[in-house]
Amino acid sequence: MNSSSSHTGALTPEDGNATRAVRAGLPEEQPYAPPLPGPVFAAHYHLPGDPTGAPYAYGRDQNPTWTALEAAIGELEAPGDPDVTTLAFASGMGAISAVLLSQARPGAVVVLPDDGYNLLIPTRERLESLGVEVRTAPTAGDAQLEQLDGASLLWIESPSNPGLDVCDIRRLADAAHERGALVAVDNTLATPFGQRPLALGADFSVASGTKALSGHGDVLLGYVACRDPRLADGVRLWRKTVGAVPGPMEAWLAHRSLATLELRTRQQAAGALAVAEALRGREDVTDVRHPGLPGDPSHELAARQMERFGCVVSFTLPGRERAERFLEALRLVGDATSFGGVRSTAERRGRWGGDPVPEGFIRLSVGVEDPSDLIADLCQALDVAGA
Ligand SMILES: *Cc1c(COP(=O)(O)O)cnc(C)c1O
Repeated sequence: MNSSSSHTGALTPEDGNATRAVRAGLPEEQPYAPPLPGPVFAAHYHLPGDPTGAPYAYGRDQNPTWTALEAAIGELEAPGDPDVTTLAFASGMGAISAVLLSQARPGAVVVLPDDGYNLLIPTRERLESLGVEVRTAPTAGDAQLEQLDGASLLWIESPSNPGLDVCDIRRLADAAHERGALVAVDNTLATPFGQRPLALGADFSVASGTKALSGHGDVLLGYVACRDPRLADGVRLWRKTVGAVPGPMEAWLAHRSLATLELRTRQQAAGALAVAEALRGREDVTDVRHPGLPGDPSHELAARQMERFGCVVSFTLPGRERAERFLEALRLVGDATSFGGVRSTAERRGRWGGDPVPEGFIRLSVGVEDPSDLIADLCQALDVAGA
């Protein structure tokens, strides 16, 4: 039953990422059954007699479509490690708050980045209202290291969103573990094909599947992957009590999208680098950031720690109006928040007011278009904006 390598189609630890992507989480092949079964819509399941150990009882606790997706994400986050538990959530924030809040105790010390995803700010306030001491430090320069004495949980976001700074996950995780603290990494920007936090020492790899993981801008999803079953139980109980569960359709769409994750992230990373190089050659653009860009402050560390550098490029234009004219003049790049999708998007991040960025700061998410088309479009829009 569980000799997972014997049947046709099962992944082996040696399989490469593109192979993993198309097969991850597929059930054992059955004659006349689809390779990826459709979504199971069920609030409850037939449940005769004693429910102890029933794999499916109630739709807030379990769903076969989640089970398949969770197995798939586990095979991407931790290839060949059957002990990893992955739990799918309704959104990235559902997953993030499940880890942070299920661990929250009065007097506990949590170390957050001060340049992470902007909803970490209200999350911080929530933690403090529960009696947790929250300390923050920037991602760059491993500055969180200074805050670890007495900590019980270190939260890392690398590369950070939107600043694209990178920290040494292995170094921080080792330092945190020496002090008895758990380590969680927000892996949204990198995806499992960009970096594998559990292999770098993290206890939790947490992400928004809304971005590159599902990649089509049509799904909200999150997940937590972790190796310790007791930690996983705490997160699972949090999901059940808060009810932050994904819909079966979303879970299925995300699983279907994983088949192209390797193709998409490869094309997007190559496009992002080409775009970053082109932007760096322009006089009207400053502070071009991309972890894959040689000379970027994050590059050396990113090249050691990451297999792929993601699809986000950030840069600054001279002022808010110039940035707005630029966004308006783009033909192939939609003005939208979020990132990681097959279609390129960009936004003036300062419009939200939450991030410490200049008024002309642009976060660009490179899709799977031909990089030459994107570069031509970005350059014509810069020309229009500067005219
Ligand atoms: C978008 C994002 C989140 C939140 O994910 P949702 O799916 O929108 O809830 C968390 N962390 C990072 C780094 C993100 O980019």
